[in-house]
Amino acid sequence: MSSIKLDIVTAERVVYSGDVDMVIAPGVEGQLGILPHHAPLMALLQAGELVARKGGQDEILAISGGFLEVRPDRVIVLADAAERAEEIDMARAQAARKRAEDRLRDRKAIGLDEATAEAALKRAIARLSVAEKMQQRRKM
Ligand code: ATP
Repeated sequence: MSSIKLDIVTAERVVYSGDVDMVIAPGVEGQLGILPHHAPLMALLQAGELVARKGGQDEILAISGGFLEVRPDRVIVLADAAERAEEIDMARAQAARKRAEDRLRDRKAIGLDEATAEAALKRAIARLSVAEKMQQRRKM
């Protein structure tokens, strides 16, 4: 079976680099499924889950938005932030989710930018979802 090289990088580090069979990424206009030999593509990503599928196994990462480019031989993800499941600090993400929810609830009182709080909430939800999936897998 053919594969495609996936690189997920942020301004600070390389988060993932390897050959995969398929990439599923959270595009702003919906999920993007990328197989080897996919046509060249550029797309904006939203906060969500990115799946790197290899040999029937899925590695799931949390992505905080960014940019995806498909080239003939590789997929490059330039992410605002990205974490592999085992890197996610759940307590931190839970605190971030609560902070964002509280801000959205009180936004009139404090005049906060709603979009900022919504984006923070989305990042936290993506991190928690990825970390929870890994925990469930470990129980199986
Ligand atoms: P917080 O409010 O907790 O800082 P945030 O969504 O504002 O969360 P980001 O600005 O998206 O954080 O990310 C800043 C850095 O912290 C990035 O390197 C990101 O990978 C890391 N990071 C953020 N939240 C977590 C988490 N829950 N677990 C592990 N790393 C995290």
